[in-house]
Amino acid sequence: KNAGANSTQKTYVVGTEPYFPPFEYAEENNSKNIVGFDVDLINAIAADQGFKVQWKDLEFDALIPALQSGQIDMIASGMTITEERENAVDFTEPYINAGLALAVAVSNEEIKGVDDLKGKVAAVQQGSTGSHEAEKLKAEGKIGDIIYLAHVNDIILNIQNERADFTINDLPVTQAFMSQNPGVIKIVDDELTSDSYGFAVKSGNTELLTMLNQGLENVKQDGTYDQIMTKYF
Ligand code: GLN
Repeated sequence: KNAGANSTQKTYVVGTEPYFPPFEYAEENNSKNIVGFDVDLINAIAADQGFKVQWKDLEFDALIPALQSGQIDMIASGMTITEERENAVDFTEPYINAGLALAVAVSNEEIKGVDDLKGKVAAVQQGSTGSHEAEKLKAEGKIGDIIYLAHVNDIILNIQNERADFTINDLPVTQAFMSQNPGVIKIVDDELTSDSYGFAVKSGNTELLTMLNQGLENVKQDGTYDQIMTKYF
């Protein structure tokens, strides 16, 4: 690659909520450097397609509005492809499977599955598919109250101090938390739903969508995707 070609490369702003290991998180406490599966994958796609990226840190429920208003060009934030979101943004092809799991404190002997949640309090991430699932169960009278929090760590704290009885969150994220912090929570149902993540662009931005899909296909074929997989899982 020559400097001339690089200087003409376009820069796209990527929105992410970087408190979601192993997909996007600060390298160390207080570090501004965001690392993770999504970060490596987007960087690999950008290198393949010849564009540059600039990361922008936003709360999860601010990502779609930021994309619609043009503040960011794409979302790479462990975002589950849903029908509702498809109405607001355009998703790439799915890039990883990540359904919802039900988790409780390791010491909880009472909750063994969804049928044991009557009157129990959920801690979920604001605007996440886990929160949507909790709302569905609540409407059906199958659970008690819902506590909404910004980040995964806050969810765990609420389970630890017994303000909440359970959480519904993405399986790979829950598993990553458990392997980093053994003895805190356990999974009692690992397939509440089967979903997958996609990167999102503004509705109608076919130029960027095509590059992302083409890049994704290329990095899957050349082995880069598998390397990133092995690095984080
Ligand atoms: N995958 C979940 C969703 O899309 C949570 C994503 C996240 O918190 N980054 O709602």
